[in-house]
Amino acid sequence: MKQANSNKKVLVVGAGLVGSLEACYLAKRGYDVHLYEYRDDIRNMEHVPGRSINLAMSIRGRTGLKAVGVEEKIIREHGIPMYARMIHNRDGSTKAIPYNKDGKCIYSVGRRFVNEVLLTRAEEFPNVTIHFHHKLLSADLERGKVTFLDTMSQDEVTVDADLTIGCDGAYSNMRKQMMKRPMFNYRQQYIPHGYMELCIPPASDGNFQMPANYLHIWPRGQYMMIALPNQDKSWTVTLFMPFEIFNSLDTPELLLDFFKTNYPDAISLIGKEKLIHDFFANKALPMISVKCSPYHVGSTSLLMGDAAHAMVPFYGQGMNCMRDLVNSRLFLLRKKWDDLLSRLLPRTWVPLYTMVTFSRERYHLCIAKKRWQDEMIGKLVKVSAVAGIVLGFFAAKTQAAHAFSHSLVTHLNSITAKTLNVAMR
Ligand SMILES: Cc1cc2nc3c(=O)[nH]c(=O)nc-3n(C[C@H](O)[C@H](O)[C@H](O)COP(=O)(O)OP(=O)(O)OC[C@H]3O[C@@H](n4cnc5c(N)ncnc54)[C@H](O)[C@@H]3O)c2cc1C
Repeated sequence: MKQANSNKKVLVVGAGLVGSLEACYLAKRGYDVHLYEYRDDIRNMEHVPGRSINLAMSIRGRTGLKAVGVEEKIIREHGIPMYARMIHNRDGSTKAIPYNKDGKCIYSVGRRFVNEVLLTRAEEFPNVTIHFHHKLLSADLERGKVTFLDTMSQDEVTVDADLTIGCDGAYSNMRKQMMKRPMFNYRQQYIPHGYMELCIPPASDGNFQMPANYLHIWPRGQYMMIALPNQDKSWTVTLFMPFEIFNSLDTPELLLDFFKTNYPDAISLIGKEKLIHDFFANKALPMISVKCSPYHVGSTSLLMGDAAHAMVPFYGQGMNCMRDLVNSRLFLLRKKWDDLLSRLLPRTWVPLYTMVTFSRERYHLCIAKKRWQDEMIGKLVKVSAVAGIVLGFFAAKTQAAHAFSHSLVTHLNSITAKTLNVAMR
């Protein structure tokens, strides 16, 4: 098979996380792989502009890395395990909520480091050629002719290929080429929230300022802040809030007041001066979700990664958290139900978060199973409510049992109401 594939030329457009990994997969199968990247080689760059410094990585990402032989290097040598969310309340108190009853974890990894390791791995294959400074301009998708701008020489270069794979991110140009075709569906949506990265530096003794093996979260309803640990003992802090709030904080005084009200403990962790400096030196960035179909044109071109499907990073494979829900009593109550039922029925009842983050179950099956669980919980609650009422009726017949029945019915009714609410989310 490898022999047969060696005659086939595959272009991968975009050497980000997905493109550089995909190049390794194709190389293993023997294709003649050409990886085209708009930017310079990030391994030579002092500062890489762009989004999120670190990523939360779960078993799905790790499986991809393992298949090309770099999981060990990235996770064991570089990843920082995070076993729980650490919730920071307004009064400065904290509370840990483990991700999983079996002590499984996700890892904080540096985006740049992962990308660099993957580029180096891709280069180790003799059948991979990487072309930096090449920006995709246009593509004749059916005939497999792709035109790039060589940003160094400013020349246009047209390349023939058997297959072109667009891994050029959420604002993909390859996808734009597909959009020119009939029957191609596309939807993009910006959410009203933006994000800004700040930093908690290491303590003066060089250690972490907060317990390291957690994803720290400051959930505050409409907005939230999270922090992921870095190898150098600093934390990358990401502030999420509506753009209108970002824009309203236009003086150092307003910014500090906002932090004093919402994130008082973070002021000393980040440092007052640094907070003011970084906030006004940075710009809040937008978050987009993208859906399209189909993902391919015949057998000549294909979209992968964010180019095919970008999502806002709050749950799925993004930040592994749900804004303010982690602070909600209903979320915690549902989590208790999930923990109980998964202990009783470990094979049948796998909580949604566990399915998404600690398994490779296909996403559409995760959603279908969660719907089934919601239905079951709804039924369970109804049955216990009826049982409570019947019990209450008989118990109320005797004077002695009256007090007991009253408290039982109240308790069951309250659980019923709460759980029905949760099941509806
Ligand atoms: C704030 C934030 C936090 C996130 N946190 C997480 C997280 O914790 N865990 C997680 O799993 N995911 C996270 N994500 C999502 C994750 O970043 C993306 O899913 C991932 O980067 C997609 O990789 P990609 O290779 O498809 O695209 P990208 O990483 O965007 O790479 C695209 C590449 O294509 C190149 N390119 C673009 N246009 C062209 C062109 N015309 N010609 C040639 N090359 C081009 C770009 O220079 C780039 O190198 C987060 C996203 C955001 C915004």
